[in-house]
Amino acid sequence: VLKVVENLGVSHVRNSDSYKNKLEAEIRKLKFPYRALAEDDYEARRKDHISHFILRLAYCQSEDLRRWFLQQEMDLFRYRFNQLSDSLRQKFLEHVNLSFEAVSEDLKNELANELFASTPGLSLPKVKEQMFYKVGLADAVDLFRTRRVFIKDGFAYVPFKEIDVIVLNNYRTKLSKALALTARSLPTIQSDERLQPLLNHLSHSYVGPDYSVQKNTGKISLEQIDALSVKSFPLCMRQLHRALRDSHHLRHGGRMQYGLFLKGIGLTLEQALEFWKKEFIRGKVDADKFDKGYAYSIRHNYGKEGKRTDYTPYSCMKIIMSNPPSQGDYHGCPFRHSDPELLKQKLQSYKIPPSGITQILELVKGMHFQLACQKYFELTHDVDDIGFSLNHPNQYFTESQRLLSGGRELKKELSHSGNSQQKNNSQESMNSNSTPTTSNTTADTELEELEAYFIED
Ligand code: SF4
Repeated sequence: VLKVVENLGVSHVRNSDSYKNKLEAEIRKLKFPYRALAEDDYEARRKDHISHFILRLAYCQSEDLRRWFLQQEMDLFRYRFNQLSDSLRQKFLEHVNLSFEAVSEDLKNELANELFASTPGLSLPKVKEQMFYKVGLADAVDLFRTRRVFIKDGFAYVPFKEIDVIVLNNYRTKLSKALALTARSLPTIQSDERLQPLLNHLSHSYVGPDYSVQKNTGKISLEQIDALSVKSFPLCMRQLHRALRDSHHLRHGGRMQYGLFLKGIGLTLEQALEFWKKEFIRGKVDADKFDKGYAYSIRHNYGKEGKRTDYTPYSCMKIIMSNPPSQGDYHGCPFRHSDPELLKQKLQSYKIPPSGITQILELVKGMHFQLACQKYFELTHDVDDIGFSLNHPNQYFTESQRLLSGGRELKKELSHSGNSQQKNNSQESMNSNSTPTTSNTTADTELEELEAYFIED
């Protein structure tokens, strides 16, 4: 839900009708109980509360996560609060101890002209209809800074329709403090072995199709990869492919990220071995060294070595949140990990128009990396709205292929494989994204073991 909120918050004016309609539709689709209070559904509210507190634990762990979580929770709260009826809002205010003193009818009539003159958007008759509250100035800073309230004797006279600004400020302060407090208690919480794996993975968990089984396995030839990398690869994979072609080598992080992506788009094990070998032996690695060292890890990725886990490609969150690249590495997400100036140059070299580059860099500045990638998709495919929320490099590829092929063959195949994978994912939803068929903790350990196994980078 919070991902949807983020997406809409960037592409629509918050609180506009189109924003509200889209958000309502998306929330319904996700079956999120956003009207639990209005419907007095205790069970739904309980689940909502539990999930909120779990997310607090997961998203208090770094400044970036806290900022992101706070922003999305605020937007979601604003929407839900504004959906409440007047009486439910009143009930809510009392419940959270924000029971501001209502201005009496006599006083309101006495001050009617002043209230009318100082409160934009209200006619005199509306002033008489509307309920006003006396709110301490500290709680109404935003309103008096923008000159939207009448002030008298140290109190702001806030109309009921503006009370959401105050409630939101109050919520922001409380949630922000709560996140800081939770962060402080993390060491204790992390020593709980039931919670630790959950918390480590939740902030970058991924619940979509895992792209592990593709009906199009073997349908892509090695000769097509260069062209596909330009047309249909997301920037992260395009960058890895270019680096591999240029230097005939990729370090471990790059081999893992790119190798699993290629597996996801349909390369068979035999093709993968041929692809990597051909490229590596053009550099400093001879055939014998390749067979002894690197071939093992490729077979391992395909579940043919070690514990025979069938690894799945990395999701965007996994790429963005873990294992940042260091010098000489090409893995990671260019929107997250590249210097903005370098990113700009790269986009220029890919013939992205200047206005598009500005939009992308703005999104990057606001830390909306996946949205920046969506914008890159729109610009490279010449579409106004990509019509999906991007969460996975392989999703980028399949959507691109679907678009370029007019939405025919691949569409059928992918929706089919997507469904079967989604079934598995309902249980995996709390797990990590590069999720193999066993538990993700085991898989992550195995991946780390792999790293240690191959000292040559
Ligand atoms: Fe790759 Fe995802 Fe970053 Fe796009 S947002 S470049 S698909 S990691």
